[in-house]
Amino acid sequence: MTTDFTWTRAQFQLPEGIVYLDGNSLGPLPKATPERVARVMQPEWQNLLIGGWTKAGWHMMPETQGDRIAAMIGAEPGHVVVGDTLSIKVYQALAAALALRPERRVILSDTGNFPSDLYMAEGLAETLGNGTRLVTVAPEDVAAHLTEEVAVLMLTEVDYRTGRRHDMAALTRKAHEVGALTLWDLAHSFGALPVDLAAAGVDFAAGCTYKYINAGPGAPAFIYVAPRHAGAAGTALQGWQGHEAPFAFDLGYRPASRVARMRVGTPPVLQLAALEAALDIWEQVDIADVRARSIALSERFIAGVEARCPQLRLASPRAPEHRGSQVSFHFSEGYAAMQALIARGVIGDFRAPDIMRFGICPLYVGEPEIDRAIDTIADVMAGCLWDRPEYKVKAMVT
Ligand SMILES: *Cc1c(COP(=O)(O)O)cnc(C)c1O
Repeated sequence: MTTDFTWTRAQFQLPEGIVYLDGNSLGPLPKATPERVARVMQPEWQNLLIGGWTKAGWHMMPETQGDRIAAMIGAEPGHVVVGDTLSIKVYQALAAALALRPERRVILSDTGNFPSDLYMAEGLAETLGNGTRLVTVAPEDVAAHLTEEVAVLMLTEVDYRTGRRHDMAALTRKAHEVGALTLWDLAHSFGALPVDLAAAGVDFAAGCTYKYINAGPGAPAFIYVAPRHAGAAGTALQGWQGHEAPFAFDLGYRPASRVARMRVGTPPVLQLAALEAALDIWEQVDIADVRARSIALSERFIAGVEARCPQLRLASPRAPEHRGSQVSFHFSEGYAAMQALIARGVIGDFRAPDIMRFGICPLYVGEPEIDRAIDTIADVMAGCLWDRPEYKVKAMVT
């Protein structure tokens, strides 16, 4: 374990001259990743060919990497598996949870949830065709809507736009009091703050690895099923890789006894190799240290921006314990302002309708980067440098 953030910074290959505050969306490239991924191609793929599945351990990667993730989020070993995308893992977990509460019809979520989670819930409810419906309330009203109608409370712990953080343990307790199950999306928690699923009594969880974890574009998601549900949880997507004996090629489906049943099809081995390299760095740090530093850097950032940019209004909670690891500001010309910042080497992103979002990732962001970001934002704001036509043309990905 290290608390040496100079060491962690040295593990990343960041382009010269930029300040990267978008690791909450896509983490940067770890230096060890290209070689690790290349090794899967040569010698593994080249020489082992199909033998790689066993000889190089490819087949078990969803579970070996799942165990490493489990250790980082307070999950019991053997109860996390990696694969597919977060949307798909949310769908599987939600379907499993609903089936465990067959007499109930409400999925409760909030308006701060990421749209894909809500779309998945709507689609699943439609497919079930049994009157299951999604109820979406304001984040602060969630607790008051936990009634005995609710089958599943489905929330993202940290709001992707504002960074507002739910109290996972308290809401889970409250959900259980009315007999509901919980599904927590950890997209903006994993690698951002300490997570302890077992201690919080969470039933199902899912998260991704391309944001704070730095496993690269398209890196797979993961799913957690609490041990008490492991034997009863259905998978919704009965792929052959989740079968008890995939290579028996039975005509009938029998789920694997373990969380492996949540596997669907062939795992993305190249991406899993990138995940291995990313986790190597995470295993050298204590998330509590990362969290403490994230708070210190975020406070410095907020203070600096607020002192110098009256045009920007803080969108994130002011109290650090109610925030994830990002800081967001409202600004009516936020899209153009973000393009102006990016043109000056300070990379954050924009979320409709007016949010400028900055991810604070202590593994590779320190005081000099925060100070340069503050200076650049202050320049762009003071001089209205965002007011140029080319900064107002929306790109396909914002
Ligand atoms: C990033 C994110 C997703 C993305 O889902 P993918 O299927 O991996 O594209 C889903 N949910 C939340 C809460 C997210 O923040």
